[in-house]
Parts: sequence; structure tokens; C-alpha cells
Amino acid sequence: MDRATSLEKDKKHVWHPFTQMQTAGEPLCIVKAEATTLTDANGKEYIDANSSWWVNVHGHGHPYLGEALQEQFAQLDHVIFAGATHPQAIKLADRITSLLPEKLEKVFFSDDGSTAVEVALKMAFQYWHNKNEPKKRIIALDGAYHGDTFGAMSIGQRGAFNKPFEHLFFDVDFIDFPKDEARSHSLIQAEQILQTGEVAAVIVEPLVQGSAGMRMYDAVWLDAFVSLARKYKALVIFDEVMTAWGRTGKLFAHNFCAEEPDLICLSKGLTGGVLPLGLTVATNEIYDAFLHPETSKALLHGHSFTGSAMACAVANASLDLFEQPETWDSIEWIEERHRYFIEALKAHSKVKDIGLCGTILRFEIETGEGNNYYSTIRDQAYNYFLERGCLIRPLGNVLYLNPPYCISEEELDKLHVVLLDFLDDISL
Ligand SMILES: *Cc1c(COP(=O)(O)O)cnc(C)c1O
Repeated sequence: MDRATSLEKDKKHVWHPFTQMQTAGEPLCIVKAEATTLTDANGKEYIDANSSWWVNVHGHGHPYLGEALQEQFAQLDHVIFAGATHPQAIKLADRITSLLPEKLEKVFFSDDGSTAVEVALKMAFQYWHNKNEPKKRIIALDGAYHGDTFGAMSIGQRGAFNKPFEHLFFDVDFIDFPKDEARSHSLIQAEQILQTGEVAAVIVEPLVQGSAGMRMYDAVWLDAFVSLARKYKALVIFDEVMTAWGRTGKLFAHNFCAEEPDLICLSKGLTGGVLPLGLTVATNEIYDAFLHPETSKALLHGHSFTGSAMACAVANASLDLFEQPETWDSIEWIEERHRYFIEALKAHSKVKDIGLCGTILRFEIETGEGNNYYSTIRDQAYNYFLERGCLIRPLGNVLYLNPPYCISEEELDKLHVVLLDFLDDISL
């Protein structure tokens, strides 16, 4: 099928995510991907500066991951996961729990970030239900994003994205994002709510709020928040769907913290971005609350693709890559290169709130209208970068880079240069 016919059929039959189909421009028609390079149907190449929605950590078409997939397909593609198990899921659960805090021992498999969060919420609510303790409230942070299913939407920032569904959400107590003066204020807010004794769980994206614009906060605050939750016996959920797998400079964001969560959600880079897979890892204490002669006390939840053998195999192969020092050299190198670039960025009058956390660099463009997802800067930047062979996905007036770890010096420098050129060229 030629490009024109493909795009015509796309327009006729495909409904794209997060897209106003009436006003959206023609989508890129990507026909090939290798390492950091995406190639469209015209043969034009783009640097994948955001790892294809933050998932593709090792770069595209990694031969080692490809091999793992082929071997697994030849052996076992998929099998029902209730009443059956298989070696790749066992291996993955064993390896993941050895990488997480000691008390996180039980792995539940699902399909993506949203389902990993749904499962964590259901575990938290049912934990208290099974214990006959009526705790029903949840505390989340302002600006949170935990996914697009109903439970995940309920605990996320309310706004235009989820307005049509608002009447269906359960009540959630949001506390201020812990920045500057709000750092201590948000802890006071949290304690007031926790004191009621009604809080089932608190949930955070540790250290970096992704969709809110890669907003960063510190581990000292997070430790204080977790200690408070502990004091009032609320469960602690860390949604590491975006922050895991080296993004923040360590394997997990919680590696920067002294306190540990009771539940952790993983997805995105878990399979190196090759196949969808979600994990919710729980403590034995939570797991034990579901053990009972009655079936109704069990976690009666599951998905058709739970524990997909193909996804588990590629996740195991991705973990192998994280055992190689070169992966960590690259992560460290990207952070250093960003840090060096920040000096040039700082000099720019339109730039504010620069943040760096591991391989994530972010900043805001001063538009006079605050942080606004609908900012027109977004489209200007997106198109400017596309023309220069770079694919980014700004969050309103927030520009950020979180590239695959295999990015070359030349490619990363190009992204930095195009950022500076854009800042020089835009008219505000
Ligand atoms: C992307 C994301 C999710 C949702 O994951 P999906 O795979 O898109 O369902 C949940 N939490 C965080 C922190 C995320 O960044």
C-alpha cells in the first residue's frame, strides 16, 4: 500500500489516542524503527526523543530482545494464567522481587500501566475490606496521572481530559504538589486527612510526575510523606510506571528514598517497550490478607493476557540488558550531557523551571499563561522539531527529552541544538 492510500485508510478507519480527529494534522506514517531512528513512508528519519511515549528504553529493534521473542514464540506464545504458570513468568517474578525492597514479594501480572494501577487500588481496598477495617479514602498528589481507566482516572488530576466521567469517580483527597512553600503545607494537609483513620492508601508517582509536565520533587519530602502514611496505617502505593528502568538515574525512583512502598506498579519500559505488560508487586502482609477458605476473599481479578509468555520473555531479556554496565554508562552519560546543556539553557530568557532527573530533562517556556496543556507552543515546537528530523511530544508549554539509552552523542547534541534554535526562533 502506498503512503497516500495508507493515510486515506487511516483517516477513514483509525481513531487515534489523545487526538482531536477534526483538527489533528496528518499522522506520521512510520514504517521502520531501528535504535533511536524512526523512518516514515517517505524515507524521512526522526530521532525518537521521547522513547515512543517513554517506553522504548533500549532503542528500537534491539537484536537481543528480538532473539528472546523468537525463541519464546517457538517455545510457548501464551497460556491461560489461572491454574497454569510458565517458566518466563516465574523467572520474571523471581528477578523483579530480588530487585525490589525485601518485603515486596508477590507479583500480579496485567497488561499496562493503567491496569497495574487498577490492581494496586483493588488490592488496597480489598486488603482493608478483608480485614474488616472500614478504610475507604485515598490520598493523591495534585497533578497526578495514573492512567485512563476509571479507577486510575479517579486518582488523577481532574480536568478537561476526564470531565465527561467525573460523576463516576470515587472521592479522592488531593494534596498540594510539594514544591517550594507547599512542601511543608502539603504534609500538614496529608496529616489532617490521615488523622481520620479512614485512609486506605496514599499513591504517588515517586520523584517525577510524568504527564503533569515531568514535574520533579525531592526524596526527602517523599520519605516524610510515607512516614506519615505509616504512622496512620495507610498503605503506600508507588506508581513507578514511568520512573522505573533507569529513567531517574537509578533502576527505580524509590532507590533514592529511605522509606519503602507496600505496593509498586510497573509497566512502560518493563519490556524495553516492545510488548505491553504491567506488574503490581505487593508485600506478603497484603497478600496474606487474601488467604482464606472462602473464594470471595481472593483477588478475583484478571485479564485475558495476564502473564503473557512473550511479554515476560522480553521483560527478562530487558533485565539482562540492565545487568550490563554499558546500559548504566549510557544513562549516566545522558544525564551528564543534559547537565552540561542546562548551562546554555539557563541563559535563555524564555526558559524557566529547568529540571533534570537522570535521563529526563525538562523546562517550561514562559508564555505568560502558566503551565497549560493547550498552549499553542506545543504545536509550534512539535512541528519545528519534526521538520528538523526529531520527534518530541511536549506537554503544553513544557518541553522535555527522555531518549532511549542507546542515543549517540551526535543525536543528543542535535536535540539540544534544535531546542536552542527553537527558543531563538519562536515568537511569543
Ligand atoms: C503512562 C502512565 C500510566 C498509564 O500507563 P498506560 O500503559 O498508558 O496505561 C500510569 N502511571 C504513570 C505514572 C504513567 O506515566
